[in-house]
Amino acid sequence: MTERVINLKGFFEEARAGRLTGIRCGRCGELAIPPKEFCASCQARDWQPVPLAGGGTVVTHTVIRVAPRGRGGEVPYAVAVVRLEEGVSVLGRIVDIPFEALTAGLPVRFRPVQIDSQTVIGFGPA
Ligand SMILES: [Zn+2]
Repeated sequence: MTERVINLKGFFEEARAGRLTGIRCGRCGELAIPPKEFCASCQARDWQPVPLAGGGTVVTHTVIRVAPRGRGGEVPYAVAVVRLEEGVSVLGRIVDIPFEALTAGLPVRFRPVQIDSQTVIGFGPA
């Protein structure tokens, strides 16, 4: 694990390679994902990268049926807030899970999702 995962670009590079990484505050221990500049709890900027296992459960979800401009080909799709095993929550694109099966508490697993040339955080069946 290197320094570079601490910035957003590095975070997405790691994600593209299938590695989900959080950052932990060196002062107060707060876990954050994706990376940000300052700790929300103590305002420190003292991050250490933490590899995350990638497993979690759906907290809440939304089906996107009206796409943002330029993204018409992708709808409908679901996004969900997923609470990771490590206790931190992250928003991700849901793949390979039928909308009707999406429910709070559903176990899911991280996977990188490639959209055009962009990698986004995704979750599929656990
Ligand atoms: Zn902190």
